[in-house]
Amino acid sequence: MTTTAIVTGAARGIGATVARRLASDGLAVAVIDLDEAACKPVVEQIEAAGGRAIAIGADVSDEAAVDAAVERVVAELGAPTVLVNNAGVIRDNLLFRMSADDWDIVMNVHLRGSFLMSRAAQKYMTAAGFGRIVNLSSTSALGNRGQANYSAAKAGLQGFTKTLALELGKFGVTVNAIAPGFIETEMTAATAERMGVSFEDFKAAAAAQIPVARTGVPDDIAHAVAFFAGRDAGFVSGQVLYVAGGPTT
Ligand code: NAD
Repeated sequence: MTTTAIVTGAARGIGATVARRLASDGLAVAVIDLDEAACKPVVEQIEAAGGRAIAIGADVSDEAAVDAAVERVVAELGAPTVLVNNAGVIRDNLLFRMSADDWDIVMNVHLRGSFLMSRAAQKYMTAAGFGRIVNLSSTSALGNRGQANYSAAKAGLQGFTKTLALELGKFGVTVNAIAPGFIETEMTAATAERMGVSFEDFKAAAAAQIPVARTGVPDDIAHAVAFFAGRDAGFVSGQVLYVAGGPTT
């Protein structure tokens, strides 16, 4: 029987790489992002490699859209037993310049989005007696200047992860979080642009602070997701794995 996975924010960046990796591991994958058309290239890449995937447009912070998206997954791919809550946005600013809207959107996408997706997907996991939820936290959970909203959301996801692990464990569902450090994606490229430095210089400056002396790539995260999503990882739950090229402080 094919396992069905949902990956949110999967039109690009880490989510797209995670979707391709899970598909190459044999899972059918629902590629969810704001714009269905933007998900199509990822679906085509998966199909070209012999995998199975569908594209779904949904805002993870919209309750009705989330429930409809999960129902579509059930109808078209089968009941989901793997969920990767990866969709994310940044709205960085120092506290005194941060608008309430910038606070709300970051909370809504990361926290409300992960809550809505997990609530909708867990009923299929508990019914199957098997499930894997992986939440994308961040090293910013430990505090990061200019990211009061984002660091609060990413720290919140760690508490969310541990609580779901407690509630869902007896149904065969594990829940873990991955906290990436600097990963080369459009999100970090946008940060470089906003700071007025080239992405190459931005990456070099970051790499100089990282023990393994390089910045991360989406495959580094996809590898960790594949581990948590695997059937053999059933005794690992409620954990936060920092994937950051070194220890975190
Ligand atoms: P990205 O900006 O390249 O991709 C994020 C995707 O999420 C986009 O395709 C976007 O359209 C989608 N998205 C945003 N809001 C959404 C919504 N409401 N509903 C559905 N989809 C939505 O970012 P990325 O760098 O690939 O990051 C992926 C995840 O990893 C995010 O949760 C991010 O916070 C986290 N993360 C990234 C880094 C990094 O260095 N890049 C580090 C730590 C954590």
